[in-house]
Amino acid sequence: MAVPRSRVSNQRKNTRRAHHAKRPKHAASCTNCGTMRLYHRICASCGYYKDRSVMSSEQA
Ligand SMILES: [Zn+2]
Repeated sequence: MAVPRSRVSNQRKNTRRAHHAKRPKHAASCTNCGTMRLYHRICASCGYYKDRSVMSSEQA
């Protein structure tokens, strides 16, 4: 097992991990109701996809 020659400082560790932040998934606002939804997915709140209703609210 490799042994590190020197201890990594807190600043260097945190600088390296600066790129590790979680990013939001690809999301867009619904064109019908405006809530956030994932790309290529039906809107969960109104059931619209590509400007037309594909799932009525009664079924959901
Ligand atoms: Zn919607």
